[in-house]
Amino acid sequence: MKNRYASNTVDNHLAGLTHFAHWITQCNIDVKSINEKLIQQFLDDHLPRCNCEKPAFYNAKDLRGALGHLLVLLRANAIIADPSIGLTPVDEELRRFDDHMNHVRGLAPKTTRNHYLSIIRCLLFEQFADRAVVISAIKPDHIRQFVASQSTLCSAPASISAPISALRGYFRYRATLGDQVHHLIGVTCFPANWQQATLPKALSNSEVERLLGALVHDGPSALRTAAIVHCALDLGLRSSEVAYLGLDDIDWSAATITLRGTKGRREDVMPLPAATGHAIANYLKYERPPTSNRAVFVRNVAPRDQPVGPDLIRKSIRQAYLKPVCPTHGPIFCGTPWPTAYWRVAVPSKRWPMCFGIARSIPPWFMPNSIAGIL
Ligand SMILES: [Zn+2]
Repeated sequence: MKNRYASNTVDNHLAGLTHFAHWITQCNIDVKSINEKLIQQFLDDHLPRCNCEKPAFYNAKDLRGALGHLLVLLRANAIIADPSIGLTPVDEELRRFDDHMNHVRGLAPKTTRNHYLSIIRCLLFEQFADRAVVISAIKPDHIRQFVASQSTLCSAPASISAPISALRGYFRYRATLGDQVHHLIGVTCFPANWQQATLPKALSNSEVERLLGALVHDGPSALRTAAIVHCALDLGLRSSEVAYLGLDDIDWSAATITLRGTKGRREDVMPLPAATGHAIANYLKYERPPTSNRAVFVRNVAPRDQPVGPDLIRKSIRQAYLKPVCPTHGPIFCGTPWPTAYWRVAVPSKRWPMCFGIARSIPPWFMPNSIAGIL
């Protein structure tokens, strides 16, 4: 009440605390044992099976908020220990991710960050429980199943966007640490063109190989297409993110790429994989027309000196994709527009050099001098 919450929020929180108090009493749990893990146990284990006397308040979102306040209150009065004591590896991981969201991405604490943390906590707790978080142990199928389970909690298909954003945010964070998560980013797709019942699939490794193999061809825009496809494949970028990429967004010496056109108008700094850098550098050196425009990808035809738009990005990828004629996805191209989900695809890890983002992996010809004249 001191923080001037709406009266119905206060009522809900009090009702939630009453339910929680009833549960710990039933279980003979001492108040000094209350911590994040116990609250998670209440939310994950008790709530779905709750048979407490009615009316028991069971809105998970309000309960989580109320119990978060309870922790703050108990700690402020020195009734329970500081959260840094007894953290599990998942807690530690979430704390680092929260720091990243706070200091690098500048997300608001009480809304987006907390919501993202609760979603990633579910994912990591399902995968690792009290064990160490090993990102390479998470497979694309795990993510598909997790998204499917989250979608069952959503009242409308569009509601799945929040878990998807959380997953993409987390994997991008892991990418900044040098982890190979492109295949995980590849299966986190926004529900623009699919229903909950038919989750999108990533391309198989052989389909990706065939797609990349088809990039080796002559044509007026062959190098541009190759660079665009690599941006989509290697970094999981949206068509608009590829279109808005600027020359100043690439730091060649640090091998990083800054995405400024992301949803929410945030900036993401990601390692620039050598394969992507190679493809972009080739386009800049050998094919990009002379122009004063600072966009990476510019138009070859009138109106010149203009960046390409997201439509052309999608068209380029679609045309590249049609060449190998992937049987699984072939019919997609016949009658329906290209769904964003289908070009955000997985890449076999062998295509990723050790150096994901580390300058030592970049071959000598790739160094800034070789393209300095263009930049
Ligand atoms: Zn209950």
